Amino acid sequence: MKEKDVFCKIIDGEIPCYKLYEDDDVLAFLDISQVTKGHALVVSKQHFDNFLATPQDIMHKVMDVAQRIGQVEIKLMGAEGVNILTNCYPAAGQSVMHFHVHVIPRYNDKGGFVLEMHDNSEGLNLPAIAQEIEKSLK
Ligand code: AMP
Repeated sequence: MKEKDVFCKIIDGEIPCYKLYEDDDVLAFLDISQVTKGHALVVSKQHFDNFLATPQDIMHKVMDVAQRIGQVEIKLMGAEGVNILTNCYPAAGQSVMHFHVHVIPRYNDKGGFVLEMHDNSEGLNLPAIAQEIEKSLK
């Protein structure tokens, strides 16, 4: 049998967490690394490897809780912004292979958060790229 990942262990009560929210399908708790103050994780209770592998109804429930935590952090915790992100596969920085959404409140300073997006479009055929993705979505 595959070894349980750390979030399955938290869900099963084998590892403690700072719980923020729980229902039948979703658990939210503080990320142990606190990239910024209030950094939260929202996870599906059922194991799915990542966002892309999660059925829509469960994914929607997880995103709903992520939205609510983000709203609370803006309204009540003095956050000025929130990054809501989910990494899929190690190439994108996923280290725990269990669907989770990061809710990272942002204050005046950067805290421990760095996300840089640089323009890398030179030489790319944007119409062809768009066409390929569009036709696959039909
Ligand atoms: P990712 O790199 O997107 O897969 O994120 C995994 C996150 O899980 C990291 O931000 C870790 O700090 C966090 N994490 C790992 N173990 C625990 C734990 N026991 N309790 C809370 N957060 C954890």
